[in-house]
Amino acid sequence: MSENRIYNFSAGPSMLPLPVLEKAAAELCNYNHTGMSVMEMSHRSKVYEEIIESAEALLREVMGIPDSYTVLFLQGGATGQFAAVPMNLMTKSGKADYIVTGNFSQKAYEEAQRYGAARVAGSTKAQNFAYIPSQDELSLDPEADYVHICENNTIYGSKWPYLPDTGNVPLVADQSSCILSEPCDVTRYGLIYAGAQKNLAPAGVTVVIVRNDLIGPPQKGTPTVLSYEMQAKNGSMYNTPPTYNIYLIKLVLEYIKETGGLAVMAERNKAKAAKLYAYIDESKLYKNHIRKDCRSIMNVTFTTGSEELDAKFCKEAAASGLANLKGHRVVGGMRASIYNAMPEEGVDALIDFMARFEKENA
Ligand SMILES: *Cc1c(COP(=O)(O)O)cnc(C)c1O
Repeated sequence: MSENRIYNFSAGPSMLPLPVLEKAAAELCNYNHTGMSVMEMSHRSKVYEEIIESAEALLREVMGIPDSYTVLFLQGGATGQFAAVPMNLMTKSGKADYIVTGNFSQKAYEEAQRYGAARVAGSTKAQNFAYIPSQDELSLDPEADYVHICENNTIYGSKWPYLPDTGNVPLVADQSSCILSEPCDVTRYGLIYAGAQKNLAPAGVTVVIVRNDLIGPPQKGTPTVLSYEMQAKNGSMYNTPPTYNIYLIKLVLEYIKETGGLAVMAERNKAKAAKLYAYIDESKLYKNHIRKDCRSIMNVTFTTGSEELDAKFCKEAAASGLANLKGHRVVGGMRASIYNAMPEEGVDALIDFMARFEKENA
């Protein structure tokens, strides 16, 4: 089943660990002697209850989520949370600070403006998002209901090298492209959200981890499915949750736990990224534009400096079994997304290809 798989560098939906796909395949038509697939089961059945409960328990165990936080499995993607966060949290002063470090944080900021006084409290847009602002480049409002960051900038390939000190104001982080990539001190955040299709599961489920004291009546007019209060009261089952995707989260978490947890994921991810950046830095052809201390270990961006050569690179790489290396349309160039499921051999194969391409096109 696995012989024809290629190295897929897609930013999302992206590779899933092969053992997870194999387990899902083995259980696809008949889950645990039930005579049916998980996707055919009632979400209220006893068997499914065990699946969603163990997905949550594993997430709590692997990430070290304390009982003072609620875990929700929702739909609508990270983009849905761009609206749900302000609708649920912009309820006291009606103000929120957004730090704009790339495309998705810009979108989150724009969406929040529809629900209250969202303000840019820091931005590196003028520097083409080449780095993350330092604490003294931020102007935070102590009255804000929260401060929003995008922790890993999937498109530009940068990552917060520190977490901002927001005082008593809760920190909200979009972790879509870095959740489960390394250990995370959940207590530093008021709320974490992540669309699944980068490092968690297939597209269609969104995880929200929210401190219990932040759950309360949302803004008037909030759709009930987006209300944290209502979803928390109903164990993410106010309506039918994305049942099969939650089952995949459970399998991914089992895999991570069996592999050694987030410390092992971090070690592997850092080694993969370090290898690739080291090669880019010593090469004459390829350049990465992110300041070194802010480089992402999940999304590695690079260019040759020529659009034509970039296009040739992507085409020839794909023909060599290295798929989806084209950068996002807003930045161009190349992007290698190397999430948990990308083995080190995939990065080695990419570097070999890059070296060959450099020689041939020098
Ligand atoms: C992919 C991504 C999004 C968008 O996710 P959707 O599921 O398409 O809504 C938002 N933020 C970040 C950081 C992402 O990587």
